[in-house]
Amino acid sequence: MIPPSFIQDLLNRIDIVSVVEKHVQLKKAGANLLGLCPFHTEKTPSFTVSSVKQFYHCFGCGKNGSAISFLMDYAGLGFVEAVHELANSAGMIVPDDDQRITREEQEQKQAVSLVQGEILARAEHFYRRQLRQADEAIAYLKRRGVSGEIAARFGLGYAPDGRDGLQVVFPDYAAKELQEAGLVIEREAERKSALSPSRYDRFRDRIMFPIKNAKGQVIGFGARVINKGEPKYLNSPETPLFQKGSELYGLFEARQDIRSAGYVLVVEGYMDVVALAQLGFPQAVATLGTACTPVQVQKLMRQTDLIVFAFDGDRAGQSAAKRALQASLPYVTDNKSVRFLFLPSEHDPDSFVREYGAEAFEKEIKNAMPFSEFLFQVITRETDLSTLEGRAKAQYVAKPLLQAIQPSALRLQIVGKLGELTGTASDELESILGLAKPLPRKKQLRPRESRPQIVSLGRRVARILLIYPELVPELEEWERSAIEQFDPDDARTLSDIVNAAHAIGENVSYASLIEYFRMAGWDYDKLIAETKDSRDLDMAAARRQLKDSFRQIRIRLITGELKELMASGQALEKRQYVLDLQNEQRALQQQIVEEDTSLS
Ligand SMILES: [Zn+2]
Repeated sequence: MIPPSFIQDLLNRIDIVSVVEKHVQLKKAGANLLGLCPFHTEKTPSFTVSSVKQFYHCFGCGKNGSAISFLMDYAGLGFVEAVHELANSAGMIVPDDDQRITREEQEQKQAVSLVQGEILARAEHFYRRQLRQADEAIAYLKRRGVSGEIAARFGLGYAPDGRDGLQVVFPDYAAKELQEAGLVIEREAERKSALSPSRYDRFRDRIMFPIKNAKGQVIGFGARVINKGEPKYLNSPETPLFQKGSELYGLFEARQDIRSAGYVLVVEGYMDVVALAQLGFPQAVATLGTACTPVQVQKLMRQTDLIVFAFDGDRAGQSAAKRALQASLPYVTDNKSVRFLFLPSEHDPDSFVREYGAEAFEKEIKNAMPFSEFLFQVITRETDLSTLEGRAKAQYVAKPLLQAIQPSALRLQIVGKLGELTGTASDELESILGLAKPLPRKKQLRPRESRPQIVSLGRRVARILLIYPELVPELEEWERSAIEQFDPDDARTLSDIVNAAHAIGENVSYASLIEYFRMAGWDYDKLIAETKDSRDLDMAAARRQLKDSFRQIRIRLITGELKELMASGQALEKRQYVLDLQNEQRALQQQIVEEDTSLS
């Protein structure tokens, strides 16, 4: 894990305005900057960036966060990737205590990535130019209905048929970097001979599909034979830049379209992605010759709330679908869902659209099988639910699957249905399956939504401390212990904030606190949204409000205690104590009044 103090240093070093400005046009509006939101479609700007708070917030769609979360949401990067990206731009090295990589190793790794990135970019350029003169390749693409525009969108190219075509762009054809980048293959020593060269191009006489990362840099290639030949598809080997299991073909190109479509379509091959874009489905991406992995699902879920997996209806399709189901389990929740589209076995998405038309395909997507339905197919496949053994087996098969799903209303529904099918009561089934109860933390913010006008004292304190976590170290001992006296929900929120502020250390700020919550997986979106009107509050005023709130809670406590003493008839017996409490109460009230008058 990256130390929270490093996140804080990083957020101090970079400026969110310059990070956002690379992608969104901003103009000054009062204390903030304003622009068109990159996360939803709008005509009048409601996306604000505060350089004081190092924070962005969209009043239209509610997206908000720091420079780190902006990169995560905008470029679809993971948290660690986003931190590395920003650190690079600020010339900082991310400490990594897990892998114990030294600074030199880290720098060397970065240098290697840089060189490989340049080599791949040069190769891509070369392949693209080659396509112009490759009649057969052009004829093939035309046959598949690919226009010049779409070929350009995906940067399609052609690898010529020579042994060492790349020699043209890489005069130092023997360089080891070419092999490391996966562009050439080195023949094993014992098979070398004077007649055959020891090194040759990996990709020959193939259509080239550059694979890009979230930033649009080429990190590898997919390649397809033009007519006959084996293998039909060939990928770059895994390199430090390119890991098949965590990249998706076409994601960079499709980002905007996924947003406007409201879902992403996951297909099996590059050619499907290109053909679908041509046929009016630019929101498609493909896995890279492997079954879908959890990392890929997570990446997609950052861009959209709905993934539609499209599979051929054959056996291979079924097993790929099952793998995709498993990869999705940890990410499916009440508002993030997955659907499965099974095409007739003789069709892939491309041929289906050609035969039945775009509208029919759209309908198929709409009617794709819900996650839960496919889950039950998997659970009950080859089991006879009319026998006791069959029902027990269904529960046995279901156990690891349901355990992987986050506690949610959806999981509750699934358990309910399984209970019906297997004749077991839901709560009994939950204990048989060893399902953890939903975490109260995720729900803690909900009950207040119905009555937003009444803000509890604890909530007010939480808002202030969230905006000014700098004030946490200033809390006095009695104030800290008073936190437990707030409503249980507020108390938990407050101790989360206090603990996070301590973990981050002395330079804690609003932005780093929010990143800490994200890292910890705590859902504080609602509280963050509530602070949008008070972000301009200055620190002195925040400090006063904070003190005031704690005084009020203390007064409440004292009042309660006094009442109890009176009611239980102990007031006389503990006379001195009662007097002390009364004095303290009076003093606190006096302080509140003084603060008020000094303000006016
Ligand atoms: Zn927005």
